[in-house]
Amino acid sequence: MKFGGSSVADAQRIRHVASIITSFSNKKPIVVLSAMGDTTDDLLAASEEALNGNVNIDAVEKLHRETAETLGVSFSVIEPLLSELRTLLTGVSMLRELSPRSRDYLVSFGERLSVRLMAEYLSSINHPAVYYDAWDIGMRSDSNFMSADLLPETWDNIKNFFSDYGKKDDDPIPVVTGFIAKDEKGEITTLGRGGSDLSATIIGAALNVEEVQTWKDVDGIMSADPRIVKNAHTVPVITYDEAAELAYFGAQVLHPRSMQPCLKTGTPVRVKNSYNIDSPGTRIIPWYTERPAHDVRAITAKKNVTLIDIVSTRMVGQSGFLSRVFDVFEECKISVDVVATSEVSISLTVDGDAKLDKLKELLEKVASVNIKEKKAIITVICDITKSSSILAKAFNALAEQKINIQMLSQGASKVNVSMICNENQVETVLTSLHSAFFEK
Ligand code: ASP
Ligand code: MG
Repeated sequence: MKFGGSSVADAQRIRHVASIITSFSNKKPIVVLSAMGDTTDDLLAASEEALNGNVNIDAVEKLHRETAETLGVSFSVIEPLLSELRTLLTGVSMLRELSPRSRDYLVSFGERLSVRLMAEYLSSINHPAVYYDAWDIGMRSDSNFMSADLLPETWDNIKNFFSDYGKKDDDPIPVVTGFIAKDEKGEITTLGRGGSDLSATIIGAALNVEEVQTWKDVDGIMSADPRIVKNAHTVPVITYDEAAELAYFGAQVLHPRSMQPCLKTGTPVRVKNSYNIDSPGTRIIPWYTERPAHDVRAITAKKNVTLIDIVSTRMVGQSGFLSRVFDVFEECKISVDVVATSEVSISLTVDGDAKLDKLKELLEKVASVNIKEKKAIITVICDITKSSSILAKAFNALAEQKINIQMLSQGASKVNVSMICNENQVETVLTSLHSAFFEK
């Protein structure tokens, strides 16, 4: 059971999460937690301040002390960490430097604090629990600080560590830090922002659990953004591939990387709503055992996209043109999202915040370049083997709204069709597609 930062943002939420955990106690859960609320950001901000010579952990200290006090948990479980944190920041403020390694050490305090509070609180309400820092259970990573990868040995370490858990009725509930690990030298590393999901899925996969639950504040994965599409519904089942595409295109799911361990073992992941415990949420599975009711699973929109059209008649019959164009993107370190090509042109999208001056200058040496800002990528996650009927429905609905799609990409993935429209058309496009696919 994994709970993210907002689920454990204050004492009241920790109480609520504790009640969810204990309601599953017969299932012998393992709990994985993120840092409370914005603690990771607060720690990063404190590190910046320390670089300017100020040691200030007020925000982090206040939140954790007040939470401990409200929960009736003794300060003694967090005190040593807070003073270690202060010492670390004092060091940073004196040296005025912070390596990626020290930064990981610093942000690790968020998760280490939250598991201590939760385990103590659970124990205090007669559900004995025990906290673990990730390395206690064998989370080993490479030394790629700030975005470390877990090493394969982690699988066996976890299996060995928990081999006896659940055999006795009174085994305390393990509460483990998400997001962090240690490398082979014993230095603390982090798995990248949002990395707690990965901590949970690797534990679940290594132990071959019944399911990994990631608890959010929303009702699982929605068929579209409910703030825009009022008839959006919870998607009951989705495959890992589909969920990964959804995540790339900005939907609030798990990070694609975090699905990898469960993909290996076929362990199901369930996205649950901590404010609607009885709702089944969304189950993410390796493949469908039963045909889903609709050919379309969900529709997402990603705004702030720039469309680049690159046209060259010199491209006809030539080899190497695409490679020259993409070399320029590589040289400018600009990542490309969606691509479509014809014999004489390439259309592609990049993030709207990318700086394009140099790119344009270099590309214009080989082609004519047209940059169009304020676009959006609409992605339809669907059964691509039904693409003709899906596209027919989509284009009928869009034609009714007099909206023309400016680029289309299908086939790169077996589960998505992406289309580019103007940013200010997103609401109309989402609403009309949703109604065409699900409501008619
Ligand atoms: N606390 C970390 C973050 O905010 C990890 C996580 O929440 O998954 O990115
Ligand atoms: Mg977080």
